[in-house]
Amino acid sequence: MSEPDVVVVGAGVNGLAAAVTLARSGLDVVVIEGADEVGGAARTAEATLPGFRHDLGSAVHPMAVASPFFRRFGLAERIRMLTPELSYAHPFEDGSSALAWRDLARTAAGLGADGPTWRRLLGPLAARADRVARFTGGPVLRVPPDPAAALRFGLAVLDQGGPAWDGRWRTRDAAALITGVMAHTIRPMPSLSTAAAGLALAVQAHARGWPIPEGGTSTIPDALVADLLAHGGRIETGREVVDVRDLPASAAIVLDTSVPTLLRTARHRIHPAVRAWLRTFRFGDGIGKVDFALDAPVPWRDPALHEAVTLHLGGTRDEVALAERQVARGRVPERPYALAAQPTVLDPTRAPAGKHVLWAYTHLPGGSTLDPTALVTAAVERFAPGFRDVVLASSARSAEDVGRWDPNLGGGDIAAGAVGLRQLIARPLPGPDPYRVGHRLYLCSAAAAPGPGVHGQGGYLAARSLLRHEHGVRTPPSLRP
Ligand SMILES: Cc1cc2nc3c(=O)[nH]c(=O)nc-3n(C[C@H](O)[C@H](O)[C@H](O)COP(=O)(O)OP(=O)(O)OC[C@H]3O[C@@H](n4cnc5c(N)ncnc54)[C@H](O)[C@@H]3O)c2cc1C
Repeated sequence: MSEPDVVVVGAGVNGLAAAVTLARSGLDVVVIEGADEVGGAARTAEATLPGFRHDLGSAVHPMAVASPFFRRFGLAERIRMLTPELSYAHPFEDGSSALAWRDLARTAAGLGADGPTWRRLLGPLAARADRVARFTGGPVLRVPPDPAAALRFGLAVLDQGGPAWDGRWRTRDAAALITGVMAHTIRPMPSLSTAAAGLALAVQAHARGWPIPEGGTSTIPDALVADLLAHGGRIETGREVVDVRDLPASAAIVLDTSVPTLLRTARHRIHPAVRAWLRTFRFGDGIGKVDFALDAPVPWRDPALHEAVTLHLGGTRDEVALAERQVARGRVPERPYALAAQPTVLDPTRAPAGKHVLWAYTHLPGGSTLDPTALVTAAVERFAPGFRDVVLASSARSAEDVGRWDPNLGGGDIAAGAVGLRQLIARPLPGPDPYRVGHRLYLCSAAAAPGPGVHGQGGYLAARSLLRHEHGVRTPPSLRP
């Protein structure tokens, strides 16, 4: 076998996005994956009972449909995305819910006194959603592709990321609805980084929507693999790379790994000053994940939730913010925030006829060994009494287990590195090209800009950096199907 031009270590979505971009540029690319299958945090499997297919990591894909990389790749032409009318829902204990419809006007109409405020905050951004996605899809420290959209987005972040975040809202519902999205970041709120990540998602809810792929998340890496193989790429699974000196010496290296793995496997290729900076990169807190096989739909108190694919469970803004502060202090919240998804609402292929799956996780201190089943079950029961009675089987992973399942997610940190302000701006290095981390060495994972999510942007932009630096190529290849 010939010596490859490039070795990509890790077959997560970012590693595969890098590999596709490089193979499409005519380079000979080999991907080496430590696990027995590709996909990293984007895998689907029968984790409970036969016929019940669960997304073991990511489940809902606003970032995939908004991503400049995946739009170039034509993802929506290669797999079937199912987009709900209801982007996300936020129930309360009294049986009512706040609802974010894809239709902004319908959302505003349901938010009473805060409807006009919701529309003013998100309307102008949703109207420019693709431009916002281009800005949020790359390093913060660069000349933004559309300065006007970036400025508008930045002002909204300052509004919702500072101590005056409550000033705007008059109702419980709107304040909780936006807080539920900001809480995805697993950080105390309010903060600029939680507001940035939350608003980026909230904008897409009223634009391309929050879809799920028919058949499960693994169809996304599978589409990338098919394209890579069609363009001459090779993939080897079940081989953990412990030192990049074991790889062909002539190859450039792209790592879809965590920062600690980068330092451990490729230390000699990294300048000491860069190494010193990278050693300060930290994981954040984690999650405990539970996949449920259900005999019937979740018995939500509010019947409107039967059509919700994504739900934020945690109650009022104050309750969600308190739970996140407790996690940051190393405690397990009594009333935790949990994220849930009901893919079978739109996709019957995930379970046997008439049955359902529920995907859910809650935030926990990094490295926690707590079995999250009871906590997550109680978080659902709070808004759906009797939920326990419809559970046929469940499969749980503690935060520590999540970090073992995918080594990029140390201690169960699904972001592959805390998304605080410093690591949002310098991910993992400050500057417009944070991907080139050493001699012929590139980092493309979620530990590099723009950070977590199934968007492939880290892989795409790292590949573009490699093409520029190693081959003087500035024009990206066509990625069309
Ligand atoms: C439970 C959970 C829920 C999530 N929910 C969502 C969601 O709904 N929507 C969304 O957009 N995002 C979500 N995310 C985040 C998203 O899945 C990730 O940010 C994204 O998939 C990361 O892709 P990646 O390629 O950077 O890394 P990964 O997917 O982590 O892939 C890295 C790969 O590299 C391999 N690897 C690492 N080190 C080595 C080595 N030394 N040798 C060989 N191979 C190695 C790993 O085995 C892994 O396969 C979620 C994540 C989790 C875990």
